[in-house]
Amino acid sequence: MRIATAVDELRAAVAGARRDGRRVGFVPTMGNLHDGHASLVRLARERAQFVVASVFVNPTQFGPNEDLARYPRTPQHDAERLAGSGCDLMFLPDVATMYPNGTAHAVRVSVPGITAVLDGASRPGHFDGVATVVTRLFNLVQPDDAVFGRKDFQQLLVVRALVRDLAFPIDIIAAPIVREANGLAMSSRNQFLDPQLRARAAALFETLSGMAAAVRETAEPLPAIEATAMQRLREAGFDPDYAVIRQAGDLLEPGDGDRDGLVVLGAARLGGVRLIDNIEIDGDPDPVDRPKKFV
Ligand code: AMP
Repeated sequence: MRIATAVDELRAAVAGARRDGRRVGFVPTMGNLHDGHASLVRLARERAQFVVASVFVNPTQFGPNEDLARYPRTPQHDAERLAGSGCDLMFLPDVATMYPNGTAHAVRVSVPGITAVLDGASRPGHFDGVATVVTRLFNLVQPDDAVFGRKDFQQLLVVRALVRDLAFPIDIIAAPIVREANGLAMSSRNQFLDPQLRARAAALFETLSGMAAAVRETAEPLPAIEATAMQRLREAGFDPDYAVIRQAGDLLEPGDGDRDGLVVLGAARLGGVRLIDNIEIDGDPDPVDRPKKFV
């Protein structure tokens, strides 16, 4: 596996792969890689013969009071993880490479609608930062496929909207959530939890599982299911932002009696660490978005 820190090196490596007729897959990450990230690389590898993974802690998606400074940076570990997962090229840019005019004066990309709710409401500006860095990364790498995890469900919808509206000729592949044995969704932020908190953190997944079961198996009104879940999270020691049941396509509130095409989403702090998770009620019938090229 090669490591590129500069745009020229990245472009030259991708151009070489293209000359060889290889399909290019791309996995954007913020590093501190775990099995969830590795599964994305393997999924990319199933379709592409040349896989690029980026490791970049993107400052513009962190709010002023968030954990940018303490976000774990482990490039050596990440390089080993990527090499062992079938990645061909690790792109490891610094902030000046990604934001040549500085972050304050960077052109911003904003996806309306889907970003107004849930994490968009809890973390103002977060998804603008995500859309901005993903746009630049897409233009730098110019992949055929890009793989995103379902763990960040709202982010996945934001990226799909971005790709459709700006006509990126890129297939977006949605990867299943990889979990610890106790159900906790893997996340770079889990390492901020001590072993006791890590065990308690499984209550987020258990609560969402309970909500999903109630949606599938009972006629209980959705707001009542949500209220019970908020209560359970508080009892488990969480400070919850939300525990909701939404339409999987647009994250809007379902109508009375709607039971299909829904997703259960939760975000909650435990010991000061913000965790998110979700469960899709029916799964996703089409995990791959295949936009017509250059529509
Ligand atoms: P991050 O490094 O947290 O920005 O995540 C990079 C990519 O990995 C995103 O597309 C995430 O959705 C995905 N990801 C993170 N954790 C998991 C997980 N536990 N299972 C599946 N995908 C994940």
